[in-house]
Formats: sequence, structure tokens, C-alpha cells
Amino acid sequence: MTSENTLIDEIVSLCKRRGFVFQSSEIYGGFNGFFDYGPLGVELRRNIKDAWWDDMVRRRDDMVGLDSGIIMNPEIWKASGHVDGFSDPMVDCKDSKMRYRADQLFAAEIKVDGESLGWVCLLESISMQDEAEKKAELTKRKAAKQGKLEAVDLRPFDELTKEEQAQVPSPATGKVGALTEPRDFNMMFETNVGALRDASSTAYLRPETAQGIFANFKNIVDTGRVKLPFGIAQIGKAFRNEITPRNFIFRSREFEQMEIEYFIPQGEDVWQRYHQEWIDTRRSWFNSIGLTPEYLGEEVHPKEKLAHYAKACTDITFKFPFGEHELEGIAARGNFDLTQHQTHSGKNLEFFDEGTKQKFLPHVIEPSLGVDRTFLAVICSSYQVDEVEGEKRTVLRFHPRVAPIKVGVFPLVKNKPELVDRARKLYLSLQRKWNVIYDQSGAIGRRYRRIDEVGVPFGVTVDFDTIEGDGSVTLRDRDTTNQQRLSEEDLFSYLEEKINL
Ligand code: ATP
Repeated sequence: MTSENTLIDEIVSLCKRRGFVFQSSEIYGGFNGFFDYGPLGVELRRNIKDAWWDDMVRRRDDMVGLDSGIIMNPEIWKASGHVDGFSDPMVDCKDSKMRYRADQLFAAEIKVDGESLGWVCLLESISMQDEAEKKAELTKRKAAKQGKLEAVDLRPFDELTKEEQAQVPSPATGKVGALTEPRDFNMMFETNVGALRDASSTAYLRPETAQGIFANFKNIVDTGRVKLPFGIAQIGKAFRNEITPRNFIFRSREFEQMEIEYFIPQGEDVWQRYHQEWIDTRRSWFNSIGLTPEYLGEEVHPKEKLAHYAKACTDITFKFPFGEHELEGIAARGNFDLTQHQTHSGKNLEFFDEGTKQKFLPHVIEPSLGVDRTFLAVICSSYQVDEVEGEKRTVLRFHPRVAPIKVGVFPLVKNKPELVDRARKLYLSLQRKWNVIYDQSGAIGRRYRRIDEVGVPFGVTVDFDTIEGDGSVTLRDRDTTNQQRLSEEDLFSYLEEKINL
């Protein structure tokens, strides 16, 4: 069995080897928290975004799209609360200069029969409890204590008292007294707009796409003939100067979001109904693109941890190899954002409801998803090592809708011009509809293995029966490895049905 830590290593290595994801600036030693997407990665990302856009925007009557800029008037980020409040608690190690997010740093006191032997401190991970217990055992042995080791109770650094924090050793150097108290660190990237480089020219790279939607609410209402409830959707890059980017593309400093602001009438039962509807819609969408249903979960944020204006927030979680984490957040935000922008801009943003003849600021449900986290969840759901005819095979079982390459086309042998011509012709006509590849080198079994590893759902082989017989081709299914013969016409309708959902 693959252990969880090696599983993510295997996935990272496959992603690099097959051209899905590269470390940014690799020839210069990389750049922490940034990634590049290679030839297959870019196709997979595009398919994920297209599936989302088709299902969430084009196939719904109550949704419209938007593409707002990355840099906007900085007043927007003051109104939204990001300038003052978009921060994470940060802890520095004064000796090593390492920087940690305080809520991702866990510490516990090591006690034997009530006597303290010091503290253990480590970064949050799926194995941190085991590691902390091992360290506690070791400390007890080194101190030559005989008594009973008390349960190791790991707590986030920012939930410890000041006195407790002062006793925690740095996870980098092991030295007590090297860690600072938690301080707020604003995660927005700053830049300057125009030739002047002073405070008056400071602007921000957007840390979320959502505010661009609120800032354009009036434009869309004035031009779009929209009726409540309706949603505005946007896909685009977002930037956060994360203190500890980690877990591959799960948490990076440049990423892409797919966000919806769904505007609804006011009323207690109204938002509850739409909030639940969106949780259900989003969960079934994840199933429809092939995420493993057992890996999906939900986490309801406790009331006391919600922002003061928020009515509720439910995360859709995914069991990544490094633990179960947020994939998408679905928040009921009241009308906080529109109220803020109305106050700060001085423009009336009220919606006039033709039906009730009332003017008001609509409430909103916000399903907010990361493209990169979805990408990783798709890869984790698809990655498998199985056995075919006694041979180990690495396979990515991508759903045909998101698979970067849909079909591999092969002439059975490469030294028969008639076979090659026929296969090339089929390849060119399939290419007009989908991203497909042509491969004529090596034994056919090896060619199948190659496409399995990059998740191509279908292989089509042109053989002697095709050119001498009825023109039919062999279609091989990646998941079952079953083969069937189909006429070219049936091949197209079969693929259409499987891919274009
Ligand atoms: P987290 O608690 O993991 O930092 P968050 O609650 O701050 O996430 P939101 O502000 O709700 O995240 O952002 C919405 C979505 O954007 C997340 O569910 C996630 O899919 C994606 N996302 C947020 N931050 C990052 C990041 N640093 N890297 C990749 N994706 C991200």
C-alpha cells in the first residue's frame, strides 16, 4: 500500500514527468509558492474551467458572466475590509528567519506524572500527532524519567497563552525563546500604479475575484435585464502572499478562482434555502467531473468563527493525501459587501424589484472555488496503480469530459503506408472536434500504457481489417481495457456521447 506522504510525492513526480505541473522558474532554483502548468496541465485546467462555465453560467437562465481586472481602484479593498483585515497570524523564528502561520504551528507540553519536560512544536500535517508522540517518548527517555507520559495534546500556537508561547521551541532550531508572538500579516500583494512610487500610488493585486463582481453589480443590473434571484460568475487569477505556501498546488501565492455571487431577496428562510441549494449543486458538480464521492465531505463553520456579517459558511472538503481540507467555500454573506461599496462609493446600489416594487440591497450566496485545488482533487481522484495482464500500470482515470487528451489514434504497424494514411486521416478528422494524439511508435501494448499514464480515456487502432474489411476500427477503453469494433460513424457518436456531456 502506498502511504499518504509517498502518494503525494508520486503525484507530484508524475505531474512533472508528464508535463502537467512544473515548479515556477525551475532553472533558477524555483520560486516558492508559484507553479507553471505544462502542455497537459493547461488542457486539464481549461477543461475544468469550461465544464464549470458551461454548467454554472451557460446552461442556467439565472446566471451571467464577468471578467473584471486584476488591479482595481484600491478603495475597493478598503471598502471590502481587505486592507484592514485580510491577514493571517504570523510567527517568526528569530534564529533561522523562518516564518510560520500561527494557526498551522502546533505545540504540546510534554509531561511525565505532572512534571513538565518542555514542549514539542511542529508544523501541521497528517502525521503530526504520531511525530509529536515519538518526540515526547524520546524526551522522556533522554531525561531518564520512569513515570507515565501524559497524553500529548497538540494545540495551535495562536490558541496558547503568552506564557505558554514563550516556552515553545522553534520547529526550525529546537531553541526555546526563538519564536516571536503572533502578529498580523496582510496577505495582499502591493504594487504601484503610474510613475510615482509613494503611498498615493499603492494598488493591490486582487486576493479574490469576488470584489470585482460586487464593484460591477450596478453595471450588470443596469444593462443585463436580470431578475432576482440571479448570479454573476467570474473565473480569474487571484494572488495571496501566503506565509507558508505548501502541499503542492493546494496553497500557492498565485492561483485561479471560479466564483459566483448569487443575489437573492432578503429573508431568513430565503437565504437558508438558496444556501442549501448551492451546496447540493456544487457537490453534484464535483461528482459529475469525476471526483471520488467518498473523498468529498462538508464542514459547517461554527457560528462563533464566522465573520460578524456572515450568516453561515459551509466548506465542501476533499480528502487530499495530506489530509481533508477545503476545496470550496459556500458562504451566506448577507448584504455586507453591497452595503460597504454603497457607503464607500456614495453610489446607490439598491436593486429595484419590478414584482414587489421595492428597492433594497440584495443578499448574497457565494460559492467560491479554486481551479488549482480542483485540478489537484481531479488528479488525486484519478491516480491509480493497477495491474493489466500481470504488468504494473500507472493510470489516470480522468473523466472523459476533463481529460486533457480524449483519444489516442494508432496504426497497428508503422511500416504499412495504407494503414498509416488511414490512421492519419482519422486522426485529423477527430482533431477537429477534440484534443487527440497520434502515435505510431512501438508495440501497440506499450502505446496503450503511454496513454493510460496521461489519462487518455480512449484508444483507437486502425488495423488490417479496417483497410481490407468493413472499415471498422478497434476502440479500447482505458478503464476496463475492453476492446470493441465500431464503424467510423459509430465511433464519432460513441465518443460524442461519452465526452460532450
Ligand atoms: P484557506 O482557509 O485554505 O486559506 P480560504 O478560506 O482563505 O482558504 P477562500 O478565501 O474562501 O479560501 O477562497 C476560496 C477558494 O479559493 C478556496 O476554497 C480555495 O479553493 C481557493 N484558494 C484560496 N486560497 C488559495 C491558495 N493560496 N492557493 C490555491 N487556492 C486557494
